Amino acid sequence: MSTPPLGPRPEPVASRDSAFFWQGLRENQLLGQHCDGCQRFRHPPRPACPHCGSFDWSAVPLSGRGCVHAWIRPQHPPMPMFGDDYVVALIELDEGIRLLSNLCEVGAGEIRTGMPVEVFFIDVGESGARIHQFRPRAEAANG
Ligand SMILES: [Zn+2]
Repeated sequence: MSTPPLGPRPEPVASRDSAFFWQGLRENQLLGQHCDGCQRFRHPPRPACPHCGSFDWSAVPLSGRGCVHAWIRPQHPPMPMFGDDYVVALIELDEGIRLLSNLCEVGAGEIRTGMPVEVFFIDVGESGARIHQFRPRAEAANG
């Protein structure tokens, strides 16, 4: 039997570069940093494009769809705010960037690399902050 989370999860801490990302989540939008110079996405957010060096970028809504690139089920050290049964996953979005998140609504024994997933959002803390989580895509059975 697993231990449920004890107390609230920590709220995200925004930096100058990532503020748009966290603000988007508060509004149930997964936003990506899109280069105005070469039209490519990058993540995590940073001032300059790693592809072309441009400092010009836009916050563009992402599909929220992707697949599991890698995942772990942390065992130690204990993290009481997460309980003792959670999965940390690196999700490769359809747009080609990878986000670190949690994979939910699936047992660790069912997780496969390449599994299609979709984003959803949950509240954390008491300030209106929300974070992104992923779960298997409903249409995954149809390919
Ligand atoms: Zn660029």
